Amino acid sequence: MSQQPGRHSRRVTERYDVIIIGTGAGGGTLAHTLASSGKKILLLERGDYLPREMDNWDPKPVFVEGKYITKDTWYDSAGKPFQPQVHYFVGGATKMYGAALYRLRPEDFGELKHVDGVSPAWPLSYAEFEPWYTKAEWLYQVHGAHGEDPTEGSWSRQYPWPAVSHEPRIQQLSNDLAAAGYHPFHAPCGILLDEARRPASTCIRCATCDGYPCLVHAKSDAEVIAVRPILVRPNVTLLTGAEVLRLETDGAGRSVTGVVTARDGGEETYQGDIVALCAGASNSAKILLRSATDQHPDGLANGSGQVGRNYMYHNSRAMVALGKERNDTVFQKTLAINDFYLPGNGREWPLGNIQMLGKSNAEAMRGEEPKLTKLAPQWSLEEVAKHAVDLWLTTEDVPQPGNRVTVDRDGNVRLSYTQCNTAEADDLYKEVRTMLNHVGMAAHHILDKNYYMKMNVPIAGCAHQAGTCRFGTDPASSVLDLDCKAHELDNLYVVDTSFFPSIGAVNPALTAMANAIRVGEHLTGRLG
Ligand SMILES: Cc1cc2nc3c(=O)[nH]c(=O)nc-3n(C[C@H](O)[C@H](O)[C@H](O)COP(=O)(O)OP(=O)(O)OC[C@H]3O[C@@H](n4cnc5c(N)ncnc54)[C@H](O)[C@@H]3O)c2cc1C
Repeated sequence: MSQQPGRHSRRVTERYDVIIIGTGAGGGTLAHTLASSGKKILLLERGDYLPREMDNWDPKPVFVEGKYITKDTWYDSAGKPFQPQVHYFVGGATKMYGAALYRLRPEDFGELKHVDGVSPAWPLSYAEFEPWYTKAEWLYQVHGAHGEDPTEGSWSRQYPWPAVSHEPRIQQLSNDLAAAGYHPFHAPCGILLDEARRPASTCIRCATCDGYPCLVHAKSDAEVIAVRPILVRPNVTLLTGAEVLRLETDGAGRSVTGVVTARDGGEETYQGDIVALCAGASNSAKILLRSATDQHPDGLANGSGQVGRNYMYHNSRAMVALGKERNDTVFQKTLAINDFYLPGNGREWPLGNIQMLGKSNAEAMRGEEPKLTKLAPQWSLEEVAKHAVDLWLTTEDVPQPGNRVTVDRDGNVRLSYTQCNTAEADDLYKEVRTMLNHVGMAAHHILDKNYYMKMNVPIAGCAHQAGTCRFGTDPASSVLDLDCKAHELDNLYVVDTSFFPSIGAVNPALTAMANAIRVGEHLTGRLG
């Protein structure tokens, strides 16, 4: 990598016990777990703090102008450029996330057959993972009701907060679904809300949670919950605006000896006994691939050839059901249904999870579907939004070696991805329509017939990216061992969603957080 003339390049002499690259669900939670050990920790974060400003809650800058999305350009397999939906801030993607904090289901840890392939088993079982799910739910202040959803696994402790109550329209939908024999349950939400003592809580139950930053810091994101609280400790240092470019190794290629970082217009190299890469599934793969050496010619820790492969991001669809009745719900993400999550009841394949989206509005519709809404008058979109019930359908995508992150000669991410399990996603959409027709949900007030709209998520919608450095017991087919340490290096860990061998059909953040606590406890033991 050439240094631009006139820019500084220095090796920082101060040494750290642990260097953590990235402060999102993985990195932030890992730092939080390690902080009380007293070990000297350096957090290197490419972004800055997300500014707290009125735009945080304004759908126009957030959805139409994409104010908080990176200006990075990535390329698809055909070389077509796109702007990926990634967010470089302290807290990472969790600054924008919907805080729907689900556990994978026990079957997700085993092998699951899909129409387009096999979702492989994890090297750990659900029962082995369970204690860290509980710790993550308590750290991230999750609201929910274990025991409601028939597909969930065993749990050792109830959620720290009761489920967030449904607003009247969603309560009615829940009642109707239950009466029709479905099993709606309260969605797990990571928000700082105390419904019993409302004035005492920071959350005001606004409509801008999913996809927006929280102006009042009432969302359980990694900045608020994990990073900010540990910065008061003298052993923790956070550097923002610090983009890690590559990792250097010793002569034998067994140990990371330097973390080369672009900062303040120059390059600085930091040194630590342990290095934890937590830059998100695409960027962690990018950093490893850009760190090739004679000992690691295809990229650091990539003797298996698996770094960057098996990229997954779900086969997801947003769906709007237009009802006769108005939907005045403000905080809509309180209900979910897993009745089609697993095969059975005449279904050969698992179809996926159904949950509510944040409440739509005219500007968000314009931002998400610019072509479709370009000619629509504002009043018509506002009318649609008033009657819309908004859902998010998630079907699992299976890991495929050809779905991969590579890096071009200029260091840009190239993302090759072919969607799979579309037949399952189509079936899930049909099932949801049938289910909603069944409860009389979408008899439209103008057309007097059932009316739905759906939107597929393009390659740029990489919010749920995972799988590029899978963990496993076999160094020939996995990048990381069971502790998420690179098989080929003694001091390099990858602790973000990269480690997922499969992604299930629920949102990934809680699993990344639980795993970060698990790895953090391992590292605390290792560091003595
Ligand atoms: C709009 C949106 C809604 C979502 N909703 C949900 C939801 O409701 N529930 C759920 O479970 N998940 C949700 N997700 C997904 C969830 O946020 C991610 O799965 C999760 O944050 C991934 O954690 P991570 O640690 O792998 O990466 P991130 O959280 O993205 O963290 C990566 C960090 O690394 C930093 N970084 C990147 N490159 C470098 C570099 N070179 N040097 C230094 N730092 C670097 C980034 O700035 C970032 O801080 C959502 C995501 C989005 C975008």
